[in-house]
Amino acid sequence: MDRRNFVGKLSAGAALAGLFAGRNTFAATLPQGAQAEPENGGESRGEGALKITRVRSILTAPYGIRLVIVKVETSDPGLYGLGCATFTQRPRTVQTAVDTYLDPFLRGRNPDNIEDLWQAMFQSSYWRNGPVLMNGLSGVDAALWDIKGKRAGMPVYQLLGGRCRTAVPVYGHASGSDGESALASVTKFLERGYKYVRVQVGVKGQSAYGPRTGDEKKLQGHFEGDVFEPTPYQLAVPKVFDYLRQELGDEVELLHDVHERLHPIQAIKLAKDLEVHRLFFLEDPFAPEDIGYFKHLRHQCATPIAMGELFNNPNEWVGLISERLIDFIRCHVSQIGGITMGRKIAALCDFFRVRTAWHGPGDTSPVGHAANLALDLSTWNFGIQEGREFQGATLDVFPGCPEIKNGLFHVNEKPGLGIDIDEKLAAKFPIKDNPPFDLKWGKLRGADGTIRRP
Ligand SMILES: [Mg+2]
Repeated sequence: MDRRNFVGKLSAGAALAGLFAGRNTFAATLPQGAQAEPENGGESRGEGALKITRVRSILTAPYGIRLVIVKVETSDPGLYGLGCATFTQRPRTVQTAVDTYLDPFLRGRNPDNIEDLWQAMFQSSYWRNGPVLMNGLSGVDAALWDIKGKRAGMPVYQLLGGRCRTAVPVYGHASGSDGESALASVTKFLERGYKYVRVQVGVKGQSAYGPRTGDEKKLQGHFEGDVFEPTPYQLAVPKVFDYLRQELGDEVELLHDVHERLHPIQAIKLAKDLEVHRLFFLEDPFAPEDIGYFKHLRHQCATPIAMGELFNNPNEWVGLISERLIDFIRCHVSQIGGITMGRKIAALCDFFRVRTAWHGPGDTSPVGHAANLALDLSTWNFGIQEGREFQGATLDVFPGCPEIKNGLFHVNEKPGLGIDIDEKLAAKFPIKDNPPFDLKWGKLRGADGTIRRP
């Protein structure tokens, strides 16, 4: 809207407020010039209200991982937004949530009112906070921020407060089944400029989280699956970190992800054993179902703790943050409500000296990484970003894909999230529906066949 139109609307609003003064207590309490029912749904630019015309999912797998992207189209031809809604284990359910439910719910609405639409989507299913619906909602949310950035002519991080840093430090994923192989893996990242490296530890004959030793046992029949026993893993990890600290000194920041695989008391012992090695953080020592154990861990050692990639309900993170029981929040941004909820969580963390470390492996799409980076750049209490070096066809499917150089994620300065999708090319990398999901999940077992956490 140009200035003349804006002034004209203010005048009309003032006249209307005066006309109804004394008869409408709500209108009478509004500041002079404000409108009880904003014209065009609060439209702030252009002729006539901008409207959402279609919301749809795009499923693609250019690097083999099933990704779900949401595209929000508007009444302004060529103006659209993209968001990540990747729940890679159940992509077709998110597709249904977006295409069958959110699309008709959102058509005709003004994409400018992001907070209002977030709350409306959240309440629209009555039952809420589950991963399917939250991923759908989050994809729309990021797409609305993308649209707003494009309309403002600014990158989204500018809308969130501007830069707090020049680029975003990233940690890489190294692994080894003994000190020497882990050192070789870490060194590859250090040579590429990384300062932060997560190290996962393989155990002979087992399927540990991350590395493979090539001799993993397999169970067959009803109890088919990979084998994992917590105690050998618990004992193997400190030995590898002993070796790494001895060889690498204190220059590198080392991280480790327990992936909720230990019994809680074992995780506490591991955190104590690793304390001497000054980890940057120890991730997911407990499952979300066991968060009551955090206060016991906190009282026993000073290993920094990261948690939250499986969270999607505020009850899971509010207490951990406000009671200062964790040091890093790790949520999968498309699992919690997108950029809108990410910035609220980051602000909550700020008051309790908790830093952000948003989930960012391969099952966060390049669009999701762009959303993470908008938060990372604009959040003072940022800690670290998990990253992935996208290559080959992925860079063509997602023009503007964030790039890692020297261990730092860089974003381009294009308006919005700065990333696009080539839909024709994306269609050449369809997700696999036969089988319809990654069969490894739900098939991790103890040596006696007992189901283990993944
Ligand atoms: Mg993790």
